[in-house]
Amino acid sequence: MTIKEVLMIGNPKLREKSSDLEDFNLDFVQHLQDLKDTLTYLQETKKFGRAIAAPQIGVMKKLICYQLPKKSFYMVNPKITWKSEEMLNVWDSCYSFDIAFFVEIQRHKTIKVEYQDENGNLVFEDFSDDLSELVQHEIDHLHGILATDRLKDVKKIIMRSEWERRFRKSE
Ligand SMILES: [Zn+2]
Repeated sequence: MTIKEVLMIGNPKLREKSSDLEDFNLDFVQHLQDLKDTLTYLQETKKFGRAIAAPQIGVMKKLICYQLPKKSFYMVNPKITWKSEEMLNVWDSCYSFDIAFFVEIQRHKTIKVEYQDENGNLVFEDFSDDLSELVQHEIDHLHGILATDRLKDVKKIIMRSEWERRFRKSE
């Protein structure tokens, strides 16, 4: 069990582009395990979040780990091959913001993604709505893009406490 330090916004490494994963070797297996362990820890401590991208733990490779309520999976070398014109407004945060604040931005409502699973098998999958915005967020990390870069109006930044007040009233 290795929990890695998460790089925070302002760290220049988060702005670098990740390279394609070519060797499914022991280093790769270790990176997947580190991502999974770190994400599990973050989900337990932050009570928020569904995925982590390798650059967030300083590994500049195209790897993403997802842990959703009903399934967990990895994406290796993902590419968005199609985006809907229809957009969604979403309140987005990030482990690299320490889930301290949220930004309201737009994401494509539906996307088509081509990626490899952890065994190197090619997968073609469509994502819509809350999964679409999540996958776009994570793939952005692989290109050095953070959710704050998508902000068109700086007034659309709110602290987590305000986000909880507005959107988690019922809980
Ligand atoms: Zn993020």
